[in-house]
Amino acid sequence: MARKSTGKKEKEKKKMAKKKRYCFAFEEGDGTNKKFLGGKGAGLCTMTQIGLPVPPGFVITTEANVDYIDKGKFPEGLMDEVHEFMEDLEKKTDKGFGDPSKPLLVSVRSGSAVSMPGMMDTILNLGLTDETVKGLVALTKNERFVYDAYRRFLQLFGKIGLGVKDEGFEEIFEAAKEKFNAHVDTELTTEALKDVCDRFKEYIKKETGKPFPQDPWDQLYISIDGVFGSWMGKRAVDYRRQFNITPEMALGTAVNICTMVFGNMGNDSATGVGFTRDPGTGENVLYGDYLINAQGEDVVAGIRTPRPLRELRTDMPKLYKELEKMHNTLEKHYREVQDFEFTIERGKLYMLQTRNGKMNAWALCKTSVDMVKEGLITEEEALLRIEPDMLEQFLHRRIDPDFKQEPLAVGISASPGAATGKVVFDADRAEHLGNEGEKIILTRVETKPEDIHGFFAAQGILTSRGGKTSHAAVVARGMGKPCVSGAEGLDINYELKEARVGDVVMKEGDIVTIDGTAGAVYLGTVPMLDPDLPKALNTLMEWSDKHAKIEVWANADTPDMAAKSREHGAMGIGLCRTERMFNEADRLPWMRNMILADTPEERKRWADKLMPLQREDFVEIFRSMEGLPVTIRLLDPPLHEFLPSIEELISDVNRLKDFSQTMYALEQLPGTVTVLGPELYKYVPSIETVTREFGQFKAKGLDQKLLKQKEKILRRVRVLTEYNPMLGNRGVRCGISFPEIYDMQIQSIFEAAAIALRDKIDARPEIMVPNVCTVQELVWVKPRVEKLHKEVEKRYNVKIKYKFGTMVEIARACLRAARIATEAEFFSFGTNDLTQGTFSFSREDAENKFLPIYNTEGILEHNPFEILDELGVGRLMQIAVKEGRETRPDLKIGICGEHGGQPQAIEFCHKIGLNYVSCSPMRIPIARLAAAHAAIKEKKGLAAVTRAL
Ligand code: ADP
Ligand code: MG
Ligand code: MG
Repeated sequence: MARKSTGKKEKEKKKMAKKKRYCFAFEEGDGTNKKFLGGKGAGLCTMTQIGLPVPPGFVITTEANVDYIDKGKFPEGLMDEVHEFMEDLEKKTDKGFGDPSKPLLVSVRSGSAVSMPGMMDTILNLGLTDETVKGLVALTKNERFVYDAYRRFLQLFGKIGLGVKDEGFEEIFEAAKEKFNAHVDTELTTEALKDVCDRFKEYIKKETGKPFPQDPWDQLYISIDGVFGSWMGKRAVDYRRQFNITPEMALGTAVNICTMVFGNMGNDSATGVGFTRDPGTGENVLYGDYLINAQGEDVVAGIRTPRPLRELRTDMPKLYKELEKMHNTLEKHYREVQDFEFTIERGKLYMLQTRNGKMNAWALCKTSVDMVKEGLITEEEALLRIEPDMLEQFLHRRIDPDFKQEPLAVGISASPGAATGKVVFDADRAEHLGNEGEKIILTRVETKPEDIHGFFAAQGILTSRGGKTSHAAVVARGMGKPCVSGAEGLDINYELKEARVGDVVMKEGDIVTIDGTAGAVYLGTVPMLDPDLPKALNTLMEWSDKHAKIEVWANADTPDMAAKSREHGAMGIGLCRTERMFNEADRLPWMRNMILADTPEERKRWADKLMPLQREDFVEIFRSMEGLPVTIRLLDPPLHEFLPSIEELISDVNRLKDFSQTMYALEQLPGTVTVLGPELYKYVPSIETVTREFGQFKAKGLDQKLLKQKEKILRRVRVLTEYNPMLGNRGVRCGISFPEIYDMQIQSIFEAAAIALRDKIDARPEIMVPNVCTVQELVWVKPRVEKLHKEVEKRYNVKIKYKFGTMVEIARACLRAARIATEAEFFSFGTNDLTQGTFSFSREDAENKFLPIYNTEGILEHNPFEILDELGVGRLMQIAVKEGRETRPDLKIGICGEHGGQPQAIEFCHKIGLNYVSCSPMRIPIARLAAAHAAIKEKKGLAAVTRAL
């Protein structure tokens, strides 16, 4: 019983296998199934079916190729089918394959679902033999044309089908040109071409040991075999691996057999390639090249210079009209810009290929918007067509793509855009020169918070150490300035004020160009293109906002950044980091004094000095963001970040301690010089002057005073030093330890709001407390906020509306969100810290040490600091959203970590119901588009699925 049923099954299977069809005529193949027919085959089928003039032909499916690879030979029945379809072609064309009286010639073309260099090239004019050549001459009365076709076929077939080295063919051809005194191939006479054909055949015989096959069926068999084999060829396999082309995307290649048409039949024939719209500008004009009296590859091969397609309008007006009609038919069907091939044979147009056109970002934006206006596609389709990250290209200066030169050094592309300026090795000098109007590239081994004023003054930042998350990279990205980090070839010497790369020395003041998009450094200036916002971008942004649910806010710390954010369409500021304000050169000393203060009273004194400065900044920011919320985060980093390092201080203290000895040595020096030799006498007067001046300094006790100061700072820095600063006394913890600091900040926020409101500016401050782990921290801070709020309202006699909320960046805060929401009116996820905490990875250590190994070993798929970890960190966020809103249904929730500007993370934030994402000003357009994508994908059921690890 069982045996019988298996037998039956086997039989059925065999029947099924037999039923499998391998060949499809262009009239019947399903043009939407690129995986099955390959891209080229699908296009030929579609074009045939929508009424475009395609020469008759058929496709051998990718499935046939897969079965061929499985079995190691042609699958059963394939060649029978091929015969059938060839017969069909003979009928359609009224020609005979191998029939000298009216020979049928075909092209054999490979094509998989994804276009792929390394696959077998196309063979043209297959079917030509010594016999059919004669017939064709009789038929066309054009001997030259026939031998031209024959020599092309011999070369292509020899090279591709038989694997004969191409150089041999080239040598023979060049020799013939020389012998017959021809500059270009069209000048070769019939006699010359005949001669070339004979030599080609001899060459093939010599190389393969067999005569060139004179049976067209052999030629066809060898060619199909060659195309099938090329799928597993090394070049194709490597290409698929390199570009991650999975079997789901493309499996096997199809073979397209297509009746030949001839663009080389005289001056009423031509061949060309084109785009339905200009792929550089997006303009709706036929764009491309053509050659009169030429075949196939001649246009791209560069043998003769092709002419722009628009000239066809005067050359062959009727055909140009037909091409225009074809343009409309294609676009109406595909609703995308097409990239096509055509051939004109004796005044008749044939289409030979079409596919979606690859365009630059500018053209893509323009054509997408235009196609909506023309009614070809919907707004949603237009938006989905553009990858959000693509917009990056519009927003920065960039190096002219035509510029090709080896860079002086390469590093990490830390912040996009290009900049040219003078190399300057320290921030003070950068600021000084910057204020004088010089363009500066701040060049450091690595940067620190105290270099911030140098960033403001510089056009770009270059460091020899550090990665994408180094201080330089993060700050530069925030400011939208180009940065190349970790250019390790750069040997920077601060003392000599120079940087070396091998033998090349860059001195301070030398001109350098950095390309933060590519991570390259060039000596001197380099041709650059200014940021170039396509006109269509405004429309795309309007549509984005219309379709998006989640809002896009900005991370902006300064009035300038706030203005830029608004310009880019931010709906609010989601993160204003107040500490950046203290890092400016004129404020840092006061900030230090505040930190160093021994008593709360003294601390308050310094805080009071800082207050008006901070207040002024806030007034400006409120002004820029008028009517929109401005979320201000109270001081966040550990205090020691504002102080010099211990090593630096110890070295200073030691120098000062040595000062007495140094002075003694100086006093002795003139005497020593006498001993050393008379040639040094001339220095004695200057040594004496220096000694006298330093002596006065010492007499006043200034060195001792300075020493005391430095020692005090050193003591204080030691006290503030923490084992684990990121987990130490920072954020609200520091705010509670030193309440004067938060009081000062809160007061300056309210006073700034009051000042703005009095000027009739609608200021909407939102005070955000960082690093909260328990609601009790908010319970501690809130009354101080309320008290100061009341005082300022009374003093200024205005009503100030504000919100009080918290960062959610500690795992415990996510888990206690329900309670925290009793005090907080809004949450903002700080996913940088939250990621560190969730993984217990310190970011710098992880990225510099083990994360790359984790990625290559497949333990973690991504760097979670770049790609939001939806499964872990995202899960905590989901808990916080759900439980926070259970307490406070109108709880406003956003994200302000670096993930807030990344399309994938934005999609996730949309899915879990956040109200806004906040990102750096330059990423706002990207985020707006990504927000629209998230909403549209959800609506269309296209949303990405999170893979479980
Ligand atoms: P590729 O993928 O390199 O573009 P194709 O198969 O499209 O390869 O063909 C190479 C060249 O030969 C193209 O210029 C194409 O237009 C031309 N060609 C292909 N088939 C034919 C044909 N049947 N008649 C005339 N020209 C053809
Ligand atoms: Mg092609
Ligand atoms: Mg944080």
